[in-house]
Amino acid sequence: MKVPILIPNIFNHPFTYDSDLKLKEGDYVTVPFGKSKLTGVVWNEFEKKTNKNFAIKKVLRKLDVPSLKKNTIKFLNWFSEYNMIPKGMVLKLLLLSSNVVEKISSEAYEQFKINIKQNKIELSKDQKSCLKKMNVSNHEFRVHVLQGTTGSGKTMVYFEALKEIINKDFQGLILLPEIGLTGQFQNKFIEFFGFKPAVWHSGITKKNKKIIWSGIANDKIKVVIGARSSLFLPFKKLGIIIVDEEHDQSYKQDEGVTYHARDMAISRASFENIPINLITAVPSIETYQNIKKGKYSLSKLNQRYLNASLPNFKIIKLNNTKLESQSWISSEIIEKVKLHLEKKDQVLFFLNRRGFSPHVLCKKCFSSYTCPNCSINLVYHKKTQNLLCHYCGYKALLNRDCSIEGKCDFIFSGPGVERISEEVKKIFPSEETIIFSSDTMNKKNSLEILEKIINNKIPILIGTQLISKGFHFPSLNCIVVVDIDLSSQGHDLRGAEKNLQLYHQLSGRAGRTGKPATVYFQTYNLDTQMISDITNKDPDIFLNKELEIRRENNLPPFQRFIAIIITGRNEIDLEREAYKFKGFIEGVVEGKVLGPVNAPIFRLKKMFRIRLLIRGRKSMKMQTSLTNTIQKFKFSTGIKLTVDVDPINFN
Ligand SMILES: [Zn+2]
Ligand SMILES: [Zn+2]
Repeated sequence: MKVPILIPNIFNHPFTYDSDLKLKEGDYVTVPFGKSKLTGVVWNEFEKKTNKNFAIKKVLRKLDVPSLKKNTIKFLNWFSEYNMIPKGMVLKLLLLSSNVVEKISSEAYEQFKINIKQNKIELSKDQKSCLKKMNVSNHEFRVHVLQGTTGSGKTMVYFEALKEIINKDFQGLILLPEIGLTGQFQNKFIEFFGFKPAVWHSGITKKNKKIIWSGIANDKIKVVIGARSSLFLPFKKLGIIIVDEEHDQSYKQDEGVTYHARDMAISRASFENIPINLITAVPSIETYQNIKKGKYSLSKLNQRYLNASLPNFKIIKLNNTKLESQSWISSEIIEKVKLHLEKKDQVLFFLNRRGFSPHVLCKKCFSSYTCPNCSINLVYHKKTQNLLCHYCGYKALLNRDCSIEGKCDFIFSGPGVERISEEVKKIFPSEETIIFSSDTMNKKNSLEILEKIINNKIPILIGTQLISKGFHFPSLNCIVVVDIDLSSQGHDLRGAEKNLQLYHQLSGRAGRTGKPATVYFQTYNLDTQMISDITNKDPDIFLNKELEIRRENNLPPFQRFIAIIITGRNEIDLEREAYKFKGFIEGVVEGKVLGPVNAPIFRLKKMFRIRLLIRGRKSMKMQTSLTNTIQKFKFSTGIKLTVDVDPINFN
């Protein structure tokens, strides 16, 4: 008989094979393809039109693993259409590599065996009422949002919901932003359930991937905690999905196969007809809109653990204070910080900029240090004594001949965390300090450092955004935001929302044990209304205003955006091609075509970049019309096109 087999490669359709075996939809098979043998899946439909004269080859063998479920196949087809990714590439996300599908001995799953122990954790009245509203026992598709401030005990609520599902013999998936997959979270899980969850992310070994993949397919593993790629595991009996920190923008995969894991999780839950829960302190704009429309149900947990209250906010205007040159910390802040240190509070100086200085230029010739591969400034890192491109990793030494005479005479413009750290050390010479950024915390001793911070052995921290992610520092009761700069919002429609999330997350780090805590914002911005809205304890005030701005301006989530990035090595050829492409698709595709414009980072990794944006009514017609049109356009050699549906970054 003839069977359609989808193969994990760049094609958007299955290939037709012949077979004497009894095969059904979803079966995993090995087939010859070109000169190699590949693992594929019997798909649910044949290639639409085949006018090729290929000799039809025979399926080599059927693999001994439970077949892929019909609903999962439907989900993968939909995923391919929505994100404009060839079906074969979507299958690749599920298959990982062609030898992942293998029979594994059952002892390998032993370590994940479920054995739910009784724990002494008792839910509060509020938590119980949230659990009731989640209503997971009604086993069908529904989206529920559990909203609660950091430290209010949301995890225990969804653990209970998950327990209910596992007890009914279903599987569960907890999605976390990559950074949240720490030992801290796993320990919390083990403490509650008494057994080990399977942990899935890009960093786990191949061997473990095989064991988990097969354990999931065989229903031997009941719970997976995973980063966005765990969404493609071949669950046999999935009963619930939980997306923790649903607002986190790292759920959006920007490079390679682009998709938004939260949105795709919702769609997978809908194809599986199971409940999904979104967990957050402050919902994303998209989620907030769906709550307001009544599409998603909502429960709220307001009380913080141990009745710890949220920190106070204070805005310090820098316009009236005289700051010494090359300094960024006002005398008012110094006085406040002294008081906190006397009370043995830990203090954090926050600045979301790695390195020492983001811009280095010469006093004589005014020439800046820019990356030769990307059109951006190099950041000076004093500790390693080099200039670094944060986009492509290019490195240079601080040593250049001047076009005027002799060597360049450098000045450093603006601070990064290293520079703030130097200033802090000058002001508080007797206190121990540490920089908390990806440059310092990826090292082997980071666990040791974390331990010291948790035990309040280091009174002053200087940190980037990394510190806002889920760490629990009990003594941290004072945060100084060195510069709340909201001015750069022009080119990023999500700039304001990103700031809202960042500062809420950040303030969630302070005052976790009930002592009074304060977050200070230094700013040059005269209009402090925006800061007040962003830092207000009630995020709805900001979210409502932001939603209104988006509606008035026809921005997502009211309209759909599809970004097209065209790249090439030759600037002139690229520009010509971009205009030609626009002319080709305009009027044919659903929606309005904006651009072409040079990307904000015009040159990246030696490639020039031009962007187009298609804006239209939210309908799959946008994607299908564009997919059909792109197929007919022949790009010149060396020109590459990337499509990003629902883009988040506009770099
Ligand atoms: Zn670069
Ligand atoms: Zn110079």
